[in-house]
Amino acid sequence: MIIAIDGPAGSGKSTIAKQVARMLGFHYLDTGAMYRCVAWYALENGIPLDDEGALASVARDVPVVFSHEPGNPIASGVSFDGHDVTDAIRTPAVDKAVSPVSAVSAVRAALVEQQRRIAAHDDIVMEGRDIGTIVFPDAEVKVFLTASPEERARRRALQNAERGFGDTDPEVILAGLIARDEADSTRAASPLKMADDACELDTTHMSIDEVCDVIVSMANEARA
Ligand code: C5P
Repeated sequence: MIIAIDGPAGSGKSTIAKQVARMLGFHYLDTGAMYRCVAWYALENGIPLDDEGALASVARDVPVVFSHEPGNPIASGVSFDGHDVTDAIRTPAVDKAVSPVSAVSAVRAALVEQQRRIAAHDDIVMEGRDIGTIVFPDAEVKVFLTASPEERARRRALQNAERGFGDTDPEVILAGLIARDEADSTRAASPLKMADDACELDTTHMSIDEVCDVIVSMANEARA
């Protein structure tokens, strides 16, 4: 079974998707991390963010490797080009660079192919922007998570404070989230968009557990 969780930046996709995967014993894939890896590599290696050919080669030739603690199906780290980039792909510089990189359709084609391969044999919760529309339009469960921009910025500020890096000023974060949403929603290639048959969940006033319970119920219904 595939559970597709899409939504804008900071809508809680990662937290929710991981918890749902744990509750159901499913695998989990963070597709945003894959676009972040290509953006990180471009910044590290001086590849201009408008060099579509070079970016596409990176996406095609360098595999994203997720690492797992023994016995845990939820990845705890990510490596790219031989480097552990688990933290490096979450910096404000990568936050800024990732939207232009993800707007390149050849980059998307290469990463979507990897995503489909990863999901081929497993029950999986996959989070991103285009999972329910493009990557797996036939996913059994499709959820589109939203929350008010202010709430999303507040959550991201807390998360950054907890992990000890990134912006912690909600105003600065809000401006970044709005810019990224705008870029992701207006690009030509697979824009951020709710699938017609997705269930929209506005999580502004919901707890993490409440959101997860709704999604697990949807999965159980789809299985029945
Ligand atoms: O989910 P996260 O915020 O880490 O995603 C980072 C960026 O990767 C998004 O802003 C978007 O530009 C891109 N992305 C995408 N399609 C996906 C997942 C992420 O375009 N399926």
